[in-house]
Formats: sequence, C-alpha cells, structure tokens
Amino acid sequence: MKTFSEFGLEPKVLRAITEMGFEESTPIQDKAIPVAMEGRDLIGQAQTGTGKTAAFGIPLINKIDIKEERIVALIMCPTRELAIQVAEEIEKLGRFKGIRSLPIYGGQDIVKQIRGLRKKPQIIIGTPGRLLDHINRKTIKLDDVQTVILDEADEMLDMGFMDDIQAILKLVPEERQTMLFSATMPINIQKLAQQFLRNPEHVSVIPKQVSAPLIDQAYIELHERQKFEALCRLIDMEAPDLAIIFGRTKRRVDELAEALQKRGYTAEGLHGDLSQNQRDNVMRKFRDGSIDVLVATDVAARGLDVSGVTHVINFDLPQDPESYVHRIGRTGRAGKEGAAYTFVTPREIDHLHFIEKITRHRITRKPMPSLAEAIEGKQKMTAERVLEILQKDEHNEYKGLAISLLEQHDSVHLLAAALKLLTGDKKEVEIELTPEDPIRAKKRRPDVRSSGRRPSGPYGTAGGARRGDRPYDRDRGGYRSGGGDRSGGGGDRSRRDGGRDNRDYRGRTDNRDRGYSRPSNRTNEETLV
Ligand code: ADP
Ligand code: MG
Repeated sequence: MKTFSEFGLEPKVLRAITEMGFEESTPIQDKAIPVAMEGRDLIGQAQTGTGKTAAFGIPLINKIDIKEERIVALIMCPTRELAIQVAEEIEKLGRFKGIRSLPIYGGQDIVKQIRGLRKKPQIIIGTPGRLLDHINRKTIKLDDVQTVILDEADEMLDMGFMDDIQAILKLVPEERQTMLFSATMPINIQKLAQQFLRNPEHVSVIPKQVSAPLIDQAYIELHERQKFEALCRLIDMEAPDLAIIFGRTKRRVDELAEALQKRGYTAEGLHGDLSQNQRDNVMRKFRDGSIDVLVATDVAARGLDVSGVTHVINFDLPQDPESYVHRIGRTGRAGKEGAAYTFVTPREIDHLHFIEKITRHRITRKPMPSLAEAIEGKQKMTAERVLEILQKDEHNEYKGLAISLLEQHDSVHLLAAALKLLTGDKKEVEIELTPEDPIRAKKRRPDVRSSGRRPSGPYGTAGGARRGDRPYDRDRGGYRSGGGDRSGGGGDRSRRDGGRDNRDYRGRTDNRDRGYSRPSNRTNEETLV
C-alpha cells in the first residue's frame, strides 16, 4: 500500500483522490498506476471490488491535456450500469482538472448523447454496441484516440461483444496506449490482448482464496415449491439492512419482486428488460435505502457497487462457480461482514458441491428457518426500533397518552399490543411462482478458466465425473412441465424489438469461451439476462 502522493500525480488529480476519500492505493493500483504512467500497454487482473477503475482512471486523467477538444480516450464497459459507474468515478477524478467525459450506452436517448458529444468530451465511456451505433452514424470519430481501456474485459466477452470490440479497436490509431482490465484471464482474453496490445506489462493481484472470507456462506436444501416461504422466513429472521436476491430468469425476478411486495416487503426487481429510467430508479431506491430488497438476474447485478449489502440470497442456484462468486461478492465489501444463503433443491446438491470445489470454499448447510425463528426475528427488529426511539428521546409527545393508557391497563399487555401493531401482521397472500428447472452439473472442458486459476486437479475430475450423471428428467420429481408454457406464458418473452438498445444486456452468446456445453433443453438464453 502506498499513499497516492508517491505516484508523482498532478496536484489537481491528487486533490480529487483525497476528496473521494481514498487514503491508500489498493494493490492493483500500486502495480498498475506506475506502469500506466510510463505510457505502456497493460493487462490488469484483480478481483471485483479491488479498485480497477481508479487504477486506470487516475493515470488517464493525469495524462490528458485539458486544452484538448477531441476524443482522446475511449473506455469500453460491458453494461450500462458499469458504464455509468465508471463514468461517475472518472468524473470525480477529473473534477478539479476540468476533464470532460461522457457515458454512451444503449437504452439512453441517442439525441441526448449527440448533444453531449457536442460539448467535446475528451473521454468516452461506452458499451460496445452503442459505441458502434455512433461510429456508424459518424457522431463519434476515433481518429484522435490515444488511450483505449477495455474494462471488465471478461464480462464483455461473456456477453458476446468480441466482434464489436474488434471492429472498434480496428478504427483506433495504432499509435496508442491500450489497457485491458479483467477479473479473470480466460484464453479468449489472452487472444484479444495478443491481437490489440503491444508488449503489455501484465500486472495481477490474485487472491489466495477465490471467494471473500468475510462472507458467511450457507445453503438451505429445499424443494422448489418451498422456496418462497423459506425466503420470507429468512428475511424475517435475518432482518437484512440491504439484501440482493438472485433469480435465474427475468420472469423469475418479476414474479419474485411482485410476490415480495404483496407480502409487504419493500422490494423491486432489476433485469435487462427494464427501461433505462426504471433501472436507474430501482438502483437509486436501493442505494438510498427506500427499498431494502433488490431482486436481480446475474447480468443485471454484475459489478454493481452498492455498499452496505448485508445479505445475498441465491433463490436459484447459479449455473457456474464464477457467477456464484460474483453474486456473493455483492456483500462483504469494504471489509464488512456479509451473509450469503443459497437455496438448493435436492437434485442440485451435486452442482453445489461442484461450486464448492471450484471456489475452494465450504458452504455450510443450514436448516430451513422455522416459523418461530422468523417471528422471533421480526419481533426483535421491532424491539430494536422501539429502543432506538427511546434512546433518541423522540417520543415526548406520546407520553401523555402513554400515562393515561397505563392508568387503565397492565403495562406488559399494553406494550405487547403496541409491539404487535408495530411488527405488523404477516399478509397472508397466496403466492404462486412459476417453477424453474433445477441446475445440473455440467461437463467442463479441462482447458478453461477458473477465476483466474489454471484448472488442474479439482476441475477436470469434478466436471468429468459428473458428465451425463443422472440427467434431468423433466417428467419426474414434481416440477410443473417446462417447455410449452415457458415460452408462451408469464409475459417473459424477451423483447428483441429494441434492436441495439437491448444489446448491452444480451445473454452470453459464446458459451464455448466459458467451456460449458449447454444442453439443448436449456431455458432460452434470452430469458436469463
Ligand atoms: P473493480 O473495478 O475492481 O471491481 P471499482 O473500481 O469499482 O472496483 O472499486 C470498488 C470501490 O472501491 C469503488 O467504490 C471505489 O470508489 C472504491 N475505491 C477504489 N480505490 C480505492 C482506494 N484506493 N481507497 C478507497 N476506496 C477505493
Ligand atoms: Mg470495475
């Protein structure tokens, strides 16, 4: 760890860093900033949440000449959320220097973006699909770009952006600095780097343990139809400050968010079918605490940086270990403790063990929360709220009434009644969710990534042993039949009408890159996003 003053940055940049509250640099910043400041090409690898944005943002802001009136830097990000997040950080870093930057992403009014472009930003932060749109419309020209950053490169490739990225990079002058940042380094990233980076310095900070040790990881074995009740009890019992619940499909997210609202929880859903405005709204409410449960799909929640998430609940088991790590990594951030619960149906237990093996972390089995525990949890919460008010001494105007009530009633009975009122009755609404197919263990080629590790021993065996092992049989085991009603009902049909606007949330189109083979009866990829 260093202090930022050791890097020889401009005072205005240093001041911005200080204002942002950064005191010491993170390990990836330590390694990347000096290399980037020399002007060299760079491959930076570190886990999510380790400060990669500032690792490239600081040297970039430091380098740009403020008199410049052309687009001299291009940052590519996989999703609009990440583009917005990076743009916010770049904006803060460049504030005192007066650097102009502009985010460009699908889903936002293109006319508004064109207006933004007229202000002559020096840095463009964009998603590949929408960037290409502008390039084709000639509203963005890359002839003067001197620095290119590929942020979250593994995510971009996972989302099928390889062709777009290549097309864009071919339009940028060869005489430039290119930096590629990624949490993992699968083969396809290395190929991309070979093609577009010149003699790059490889800096990496690979954690000893794949998943964060501060996260208390547990799983609950249950049947699909028990999941919703279990979820409500878990929320009641644990009383999370902020919780993210992961569902497998967009339909699942919609249904869950609505079901939770019906039961009286402040919950909202986040997935790729929402409009830009809706998404921003949901995120704002989650950040400012006006909702405390966010229901999301993997892609919608990836990389999101929300502090204070105390609980992650995997309502559906994720398909791959990397997703599991990404999901639970939304909690336990900035050295805080977090809890991750995963619901696993009996048929998915093998797959859970596979995830444990790859992440090298044991996931403790816990029983389904009982009704009594749920009630106790809720009552405890109410009592805490009451005591908080007592401590803050904010109840004076109620004292008169309290005295007169106490003259007529027993104090214990009276307080119990008030607590009951405060706790609120559980709303007994019938909830029915469309069941999801269980995840089953997948064949895994031995030559694929595992969160940045060479997949030696545990990999091949786990994948290999499981191949073809007890294939899922649709007609057994109490699930409502899949296929037919899945594609038509529930309003989950994905919208392809938005053309490019939906691009940034496309499902992963190139699964070969991840080394998984998809069975043909998988849910349509589109619904996963
Ligand atoms: P990554 O891209 O590696 O996932 P981010 O760049 O999004 O991580 O950073 C995660 C969070 O850490 C952000 O809120 C960012 O502002 C904060 N952060 C980055 N660098 C520092 C630092 N040196 N000190 C304190 N906080 C930092
Ligand atoms: Mg990042």
